Amino acid sequence: MSHHKFAKQIHERDNYTCVYCNLDGKLSYINYRMLTLDHLKPKAYEENNSIENLITACFICNQFKGHFYPEYAKTQKDVFNEIRKHIKTQLSFDFKKYISDVKKFI
Ligand SMILES: [Zn+2]
Repeated sequence: MSHHKFAKQIHERDNYTCVYCNLDGKLSYINYRMLTLDHLKPKAYEENNSIENLITACFICNQFKGHFYPEYAKTQKDVFNEIRKHIKTQLSFDFKKYISDVKKFI
C-alpha cells in the first residue's frame, strides 16, 4: 500500500478494486496488500499527485503498465481500454520470455 496521505480516500473511492483488472482488494488480505496507487498519467509526463490522477491498481497492473499513457485516446473510457490492452500485451511478452528462459534449463 502506498503512503500517500490520501491513499485510503483513493482506495475507498475505487472500492478497493484495481481499476485495470478488477482485482478485489476486499476479498482477501493478500489481495488487499496487492493494491497500490498508480499515477494514471505517469510522472514521466507530468508530476501530478492530484487525487484525480491517482488511482487504485494492483501491483501487477502497475508494474506492467509502466510509463504507458495513450495520449491520443479521446475519452476516459478509451484511456482505460488502451491501458488494459497495453498491460495485457506486456504480460504476454513477459510470459513468453519466462517460458523461453525456463526452456534453457529443461
Ligand atoms: Zn490489476
